[in-house]
Amino acid sequence: MTGNFRNRRAVLKLQHVSDNCFAVLNEKNRVCDANSGLVNLGGGVVVDTQSDLFHARRMIELFGKVWRGMPKRVINTHEDGDHVWGNQLFESAEIIAHRTVPERMKQVAEPGETQKLLKGADSFLSRSILRATHPGALAIARQLGQDYDFDGIKLALPTTLFDERYVLDLDGTEVHLIYVGPCHQVGDTIVHVPKERVVFAGDVIFRQCTPRGWTGTYQKWLEALDLIIWLDPEVIVPGHGSLCGVEGAMEMKAYLEYVREESARYFQRGLTSIEASKRIDLGPYSGWHAPARLYLNVERAYREFRNESADVPWDSAKTFDAVYKVATERHIEVEF
Ligand SMILES: [Zn+2]
Repeated sequence: MTGNFRNRRAVLKLQHVSDNCFAVLNEKNRVCDANSGLVNLGGGVVVDTQSDLFHARRMIELFGKVWRGMPKRVINTHEDGDHVWGNQLFESAEIIAHRTVPERMKQVAEPGETQKLLKGADSFLSRSILRATHPGALAIARQLGQDYDFDGIKLALPTTLFDERYVLDLDGTEVHLIYVGPCHQVGDTIVHVPKERVVFAGDVIFRQCTPRGWTGTYQKWLEALDLIIWLDPEVIVPGHGSLCGVEGAMEMKAYLEYVREESARYFQRGLTSIEASKRIDLGPYSGWHAPARLYLNVERAYREFRNESADVPWDSAKTFDAVYKVATERHIEVEF
């Protein structure tokens, strides 16, 4: 992995969001480049902890410019590795998440599989096998290897769990945790700071990059976006991409509605989800990062058309291969 260290660049930036809210944004905005938030009151609350220890340390360093000590609390907006793999660095902090998150983290965020994938992409033999069997998995491993090193990560599970809502009172400023899943993932939670009109949206919102949804329904995702619009925040910190206002939620809604409609057309004509993903006109979304991730959203729509349960597990190697195939056949950059 040493070769990867040389190339690795963390492009993280600190942004002041409101009086007491801050964000650390991952400017490359590719897979794993998640954002973190900070509510700098009542001992400090960090929202999401980055994808590896290097990025988590950099995030702590950037937030360290404004806080007075390590924060007492961490919120995980959901169970995906890119939002929880820095948890262990907040040693004595209370980690808060939806009740489903600890079990789900064990299922989808065990770092071992990703560590193995990156190591495989580093060795000649495994690389040759991967190229022949799973070109998409090899491509994502190479992309991740440029920025990430997953060694040393141990799952630090949430310690405080809630069901529908959870309210923190930070020196008189309320922070509302609202469960909105399963929409993009089972544990999806948004964090609302009404007094400062800020929403930390987690992966309910991807900004200027193609969303990647896993376990959940279109219906729930659209409802979560409607709720964010109704809360009328001045600033939204999305899970991925730059800060936005409610227009970010509206654009996500339009994207999801468009993809679901287009998927239905191709589904009725009997095309597979991969074939549909090669053909759907990307329109205004072609400029978003990683447009071929469209496949995931088409496949999710197909699962619903086939009346399949939303929690059928994903075969990640096959999924990356499908994204790879869609990108190469559309002659666009292979980007995850
Ligand atoms: Zn994410």
